[in-house]
Amino acid sequence: MWATVAMVAASLVSPAHATDYAGPLFDAHLHYNEEAWNGTTGPHPLRDVLDRIQRNGVRAVIANSRPNDGTRALAAARAQTQAAALTVVPFIRLYRNRADYDSWFRDESIYEMVQTEFARGTAAGPYRGIGEFHLYDSANANGPVARKLVQFAERNNLAVLAHVDDVAVDLLMAHAPQGGANLRLIWAHTGIGGPAAARVDELMRRYPRLMGELSYRPGLACEDGLLCPEWRVLLLKYPDRFLVGSDTWVNQRWLYYDDLMRGYRRWLGDLPADVARRVAWSNGAALFGLP
Ligand SMILES: [Zn+2]
Repeated sequence: MWATVAMVAASLVSPAHATDYAGPLFDAHLHYNEEAWNGTTGPHPLRDVLDRIQRNGVRAVIANSRPNDGTRALAAARAQTQAAALTVVPFIRLYRNRADYDSWFRDESIYEMVQTEFARGTAAGPYRGIGEFHLYDSANANGPVARKLVQFAERNNLAVLAHVDDVAVDLLMAHAPQGGANLRLIWAHTGIGGPAAARVDELMRRYPRLMGELSYRPGLACEDGLLCPEWRVLLLKYPDRFLVGSDTWVNQRWLYYDDLMRGYRRWLGDLPADVARRVAWSNGAALFGLP
């Protein structure tokens, strides 16, 4: 009997931790920017990033880069990506350089660049989305080019990867037909400013095709690297709507790629197996029709 009491007490103090999620990962927020490979080799040439991706069990990536050459290079490395069992899902980035971050939403030359890039495609097939783009001031979601690009995306069945606040989610959705009912908007970081879980819940309910990507999400992980209670509830409530991503926006994130993926595997392992598998892999795979 004492043994039973002791076991119960021990289980209350340190709940048995499920093993880390061991299945495939879909990295829904990967950048292969100029400074990572420098147009030729750089600190993270293709061989290096593909090694990092492969050794972490990442089997598909949403690839985008500033400028788009990095994405095209990844897409063109067919022999290497196939050897790494990796599917590259290419997105058109709206930035030729850093200056474009602050003006793309009203810059007609960006709209033209996107058209040209879309028509050109990649060696891994047509582009499947646009972004990541940023709106530091949500009002700029109403910029003329932002409006046109949302409509362009919807027309061409492209997903949209947007680093925006919750107000801008509503504004961007309003540019799409049927109030955004069919717009495949992937909310980068699910709001890096950390809108309350209740607000995320409200947006998920309102927009049936809104997806939340979880890198850099404030308040997501709590003790022992497991999900905070309100986020656990959200993921269980919307198991088909969340994705994980690395956000390799600076080279340092490549250095920590192993740690980032290990962190995801830890909290994923604490979810029911079917939910973990969806968030880790199947939701991204379903978005782009991967097997
Ligand atoms: Zn990013």
